[in-house]
Amino acid sequence: MNVDMKPDLHIDTHYYKVTELRSLTENTFVLSLPKSRFKFEAGQHISLSIMGDYQSREYSIYSAEEGESLEILVKEVEGGYFSPKLKHLRTGDLVEVHGSFGKFGLDEKKRDTHQHIFIASGTGIAPFHSMVKTNPGLNYHLIHGVRYLNEAYEIGEYERSRVTVCTSRDEKGDFYGRLTDYLKKTDFVKNTCFYLCGNSDMIFDAMEILKSKGFDRDSVTVEVYF
Ligand SMILES: Cc1cc2nc3c(=O)[nH]c(=O)nc-3n(C[C@H](O)[C@H](O)[C@H](O)COP(=O)(O)OP(=O)(O)OC[C@H]3O[C@@H](n4cnc5c(N)ncnc54)[C@H](O)[C@@H]3O)c2cc1C
Repeated sequence: MNVDMKPDLHIDTHYYKVTELRSLTENTFVLSLPKSRFKFEAGQHISLSIMGDYQSREYSIYSAEEGESLEILVKEVEGGYFSPKLKHLRTGDLVEVHGSFGKFGLDEKKRDTHQHIFIASGTGIAPFHSMVKTNPGLNYHLIHGVRYLNEAYEIGEYERSRVTVCTSRDEKGDFYGRLTDYLKKTDFVKNTCFYLCGNSDMIFDAMEILKSKGFDRDSVTVEVYF
């Protein structure tokens, strides 16, 4: 639940026609909308609905602040209500975008003084893609936990030496095992900011590991998807 979505707040609503659905794997895709005058800060998310459907869901913005399109990265959840409908959208279909929302994003005060460690499970990589594309020259390292290497979505978009892909079901990644096992084995310099995004189990486990390594809550920012 997003605390910023209080009913008494003014919420910007935009109607867009889908411009592209770019398929990344059998069940993951990038949905593109025209950016138009839509404003956001890298790391924020939108609330999306499909015209004629009463439900909405939240999605991190995948594209850069100054990008030409407004993009989201979506995984179709088997048996889910909304994500399978998104997958079946076609170019020209109308969607409703509310937002932008949230405070997940780079700690601007530490932007140039600290190392930024991005820790993502699955589509939790989306806000980090936006941050990396928005901030050329950023001192970051992305740790991405997936099951198979083909779920390291658009890995070519990042400087390869700045990414560690942890694959839990095949040995093709940089680290064979769970992201949390990689964290346990890894040392981080003192001046590090951590950003965690994805499912709650990963986030809670990762926070415990970071705490045991001496990083307090102030150095960790989180975005929980489910
Ligand atoms: C702030 C925020 C940002 C988000 N950003 C993204 C994003 O960038 N990309 C994205 O794909 N999703 C994102 N989500 C999740 C998204 O809002 C939906 O929950 C997701 O698309 C499933 O919706 P659904 O209607 O298909 O499933 P539902 O019918 O609502 O739920 C079905 C089940 O799927 C679980 N579930 C939700 N997401 C996932 C997932 N990714 N993998 C496995 N199980 C899941 C739910 O816990 C639930 O048990 C975000 C959520 C939040 C709160």
